Amino acid sequence: MTYEIQPAGSHYIDGAYVEDTAGAEIPVIYAATGERIATLHAATPAIVEQALVAAEKAQAEWAKLSPRERGRVLTRAAAIMRERNHELSVLETYDTGKPLQETLVADATSGSDALEYFGGLAASLTGEHIPLGEDWVYTIREPLGVCVGIGAWNYPTQIACWKAAPALACGNAMVFKPSETTPLCALKVAEILTEAGAPAGLFNVVQGMGEVGASLVTDSRVAKVSLTGSVPTGRKVYAAAADGMKHVTMELGGKSPMLVFDDADIDNAVGGAILGNFYSSGQICSNGTRVFVQKGIKEAFLARLNERLQDAVIGDPLDETTSFGPMVSEQQMTIVQGFIEKGVAGGARLVTGGKRIDRDGWYLEPTVFADVTDDMTIAREEIFGPVMSVLDFDTEEEAIARANATEYGLSAGVFTSDLSRGHRVIGQLRAGSCFINSYNDAPVEAPFGGVKMSGVGRENSKAAIEHWSQMKSVYVRMGDVEAPF
Ligand code: NDP
Repeated sequence: MTYEIQPAGSHYIDGAYVEDTAGAEIPVIYAATGERIATLHAATPAIVEQALVAAEKAQAEWAKLSPRERGRVLTRAAAIMRERNHELSVLETYDTGKPLQETLVADATSGSDALEYFGGLAASLTGEHIPLGEDWVYTIREPLGVCVGIGAWNYPTQIACWKAAPALACGNAMVFKPSETTPLCALKVAEILTEAGAPAGLFNVVQGMGEVGASLVTDSRVAKVSLTGSVPTGRKVYAAAADGMKHVTMELGGKSPMLVFDDADIDNAVGGAILGNFYSSGQICSNGTRVFVQKGIKEAFLARLNERLQDAVIGDPLDETTSFGPMVSEQQMTIVQGFIEKGVAGGARLVTGGKRIDRDGWYLEPTVFADVTDDMTIAREEIFGPVMSVLDFDTEEEAIARANATEYGLSAGVFTSDLSRGHRVIGQLRAGSCFINSYNDAPVEAPFGGVKMSGVGRENSKAAIEHWSQMKSVYVRMGDVEAPF
């Protein structure tokens, strides 16, 4: 089977592909070979304008539908996405370089979970009746209006759906800007929504770098901005949105701790550490990249980890047996290589990996550092690559304090066979998305998001509704109005 990778147009606006070659060229590079597989163009101001006009028009129409009808469009889109999972997964692999073994189960499937969940929830989103004796207040849950989604490059389908599904369920329209590194997948989400019956203009995709995102964020027609990206970008986007008093959701970076106690099941802890550091070649915001291992099991943990890493199948991402693929881009690979050099220079013990793999594409070995200390750069900064830092600790109190000593707070995990310790420790870790004897599960039913510099707001679950809608309250007086004069 051959796949059409070059889309019919760079952008998707008002229910159709649109091209404007006046915009800067965006080459799409397949990470496993370094070859150019498609060429898109960044949105010009005229394209951005077209998208906003289309979204504004569609939103007015969409908000008038009954929530049940809106929900039906989303659940239909979920079904189409699930039927096309294989095709969409292949495209995700071309867009990101992630192995098909992963994309078949983690991308379009997660996107369709979100569409299905919020499609099902749509009809139950209501206000309330507040009795005040004779008088009463009722509340109406209203959409925000035209919303902007801006995505990172690690999960292009999932990010588009995690934003679009609750936004549309609540009656909003969206203009989405993917990362310029992975511009392909969101276009398919837009196509599928149209096919499922979404009105033209409800979900638009415009391509471009940061400045296209910035022009959307500052537009007065935009009511809300949801960004998935790094902390430095989040700071800029949040500030720009604040100037226009817009709603925001910020899903930003992390340097999350995973605490492994002496009494943990070693294989489960090693499995969690592998998932939390090497899935998607380590390019996951919630990764547990600071693995604190209690001294009693440190060497056993490292030995078992090393053994299991030998089973990684590194190779062609389109081969379903491959379990570890390339980095998304040469630039990201170079950034990660810089961190590995800093790890070595800083005195950490390189247990395994550390080198670029001798083949085409942007492959780095799964890398583990041990004897990492809290002050080392690799223990403080988000690397966003396949680099695990193992730190050791003596006591529970010490581990909690050190785990919390970071500006980030996206995720945290605990491995222990002591039930009360699991809950006690997780209760004290300052992070938004936490795990006990597991790592990196992100079902749509659970709220997802960070504290501290890792972000504001929550995606997924019923909690997301609060971030994509607003309450109008209506006071109803049943008697006469009493005025002082
Ligand atoms: P970036 O912060 O570099 O970019 C994120 C998006 O913002 C891109 O689409 C980018 O455009 C755009 N952008 C950049 N500058 C501006 C601006 N001034 N105004 C508006 N938009 C702008 O992140 P990456 O793409 O490099 O992704 C990696 C980061 O994302 C990591 O820090 C990771 O932790 C985080 N992340 C967080 C997740 C979460 O849910 N918490 C999930 C996944 C990733 P372009 O790049 O095309 O120029």
